[in-house]
Amino acid sequence: MHYFHYIDDQLCCEDVPVLSVAQAVGTPFYLYSHRTLKRHFEVFDSAFKDIPHIICFSAKANSNGAILRIFINEGSGIDIVSGGELYRALEAGADPRKIVYSGVGKREEEIRYALKSDILMFNVESSQELEAINEYAGRMGVVARISLRVNPDVDPMTHPHISTGMKENKFGIDINKSLEEYRHAERLKHIEVIGVDCHIGSQITQIAPFIDALDRLKELIASLRNEGVGIRYLDLGGGLGITYDQETPPHPADYAKAIMDRARDIDCTFIFEPGRVIVGNAGILVSEVLYTKTNADKRFVIVDAGMNDLLRPSLYDSYHKIQPVELKGRKSILSDVVGPICESGDYLARGRAIPGLERGELMAVMSAGAYGFSMSSNYNSRPRVPEVLVKDGMFYVIRSRETLADLARGESIPDFLR
Ligand SMILES: *Cc1c(COP(=O)(O)O)cnc(C)c1O
Repeated sequence: MHYFHYIDDQLCCEDVPVLSVAQAVGTPFYLYSHRTLKRHFEVFDSAFKDIPHIICFSAKANSNGAILRIFINEGSGIDIVSGGELYRALEAGADPRKIVYSGVGKREEEIRYALKSDILMFNVESSQELEAINEYAGRMGVVARISLRVNPDVDPMTHPHISTGMKENKFGIDINKSLEEYRHAERLKHIEVIGVDCHIGSQITQIAPFIDALDRLKELIASLRNEGVGIRYLDLGGGLGITYDQETPPHPADYAKAIMDRARDIDCTFIFEPGRVIVGNAGILVSEVLYTKTNADKRFVIVDAGMNDLLRPSLYDSYHKIQPVELKGRKSILSDVVGPICESGDYLARGRAIPGLERGELMAVMSAGAYGFSMSSNYNSRPRVPEVLVKDGMFYVIRSRETLADLARGESIPDFLR
């Protein structure tokens, strides 16, 4: 469900023509629909209204401060994976007591920053990390609230690069060893155990893997409580998938129902860390066709956005729908849509039947709101593109286009080269 649609053959975001935004900010750019973002958050949040819960939007899916603030204003917490994301979350006005901190490689200054900010909890991913947090908290004279991120060894049946909850992945602590680790954590002076956590992967399009994971966490919680370990939070992570192409992921309401059916007897506050399902279909990447050409019978549409702007097709071979900004009732042509980057892996779509786009016209890469801008880089010395938010018939630049000077910012020439 989203608010990108054609009005009189013109692609619009809500009721704002994409073309009018392009004329104001140039191409390429990311365009988000406020109505879609807000609706997605509300649908997800209200689906869990019958159980105590906190939604912690996963900042890495889209870290723009204005986007974070939309959710924060709706009561969202934030799931962070770095000190940088903690900074962004706090700047956007997040309640620290609704921030959870995941990630396998937390550095000392990041841990200290989180302790100083008094975040809700660390999702601890290894024994050594637990020791480190205990040590830093001790030196600061505070107590760190933690849960262990356990690896429940369930197959999320998604792309291997985005599956995180199988025992061969780098994430979390083997669930079979976690009881021992929890006993140890209980003995640490500057650690307060408050929860259990898992995050099994991303773009998951079935309910079963979540339920498998939940069942394993429930068993663990029962064992922990038997030993007197007070578990108050059950964090089930994120990972719910969206429709990019033909996928039929469960509706958040069905996902929520399946979870709540098994949750009523667990006396815990639930935490969910959705990212993609909230922002994925709420954003598009708009690009101009620079040239078209045919090599070895293959039609190439060369556009001004590349893998540095949207990495997902190159990184995961992921599918994003390509749509012309202006429909002209054309017949489809099999095409590769490629960017200007000097890499053969620089493509946005391959072997795709799309309308015969021509030089100078605009096209949209759909469902680019998650892991789009947040994964972008300056590769090939390309300034990062602007982000624009549409609300109530107006549009707002929520991040401006980088300048050429931005590209060299922070660099310096040592004296011996002068
Ligand atoms: C990436 C991530 C999420 C969000 O995943 P989505 O698939 O975007 O919902 C949630 N929790 C953790 C720990 C993550 O690393």
